[in-house]
Amino acid sequence: MTLRREQKKLLEQVPEVGNWTKLRKKQVSVKDLAALTASTGHEFAVFTGKSSKILIHGTSKSWHIPHDAWEVIKSNQYEWTAHSHPTMTKITVSPEDRETLKLFTWQEKSTIIDLKGNTKEFTASTQDWINEILGVVDYDKREKSNKYSWPDTD
Ligand SMILES: [Zn+2]
Repeated sequence: MTLRREQKKLLEQVPEVGNWTKLRKKQVSVKDLAALTASTGHEFAVFTGKSSKILIHGTSKSWHIPHDAWEVIKSNQYEWTAHSHPTMTKITVSPEDRETLKLFTWQEKSTIIDLKGNTKEFTASTQDWINEILGVVDYDKREKSNKYSWPDTD
């Protein structure tokens, strides 16, 4: 897969596994993660702060937040916007993904994007995970209906 010129520039800033960089907000989108993943076969993660974003280059199976990046993320409460998986069938939320999200006590949800650009939101809740596995609740639909419903009043 060919990267657009701007996406090539992004990759030049984080060429190796474990590299990270701080960018202006407009410089990287969630869709860019899909393109970078389609091109390299690696996972990428993006975090959003008030005026900037952080991009991390992971491996084909995982990624972790370098210590110095975590210092910036934690002290400025950057949100973990998304990370990519090098897959194109069903997006599977890994236990590590949920564990990582628990570190972000200031946010509830994050998004996974696959190399084709399909996305899936997830939470750190173990119950959501179990329900999803059992097919008890259609997770995405339930999220939507809660968002727009009013509290019951008599
Ligand atoms: Zn993941």
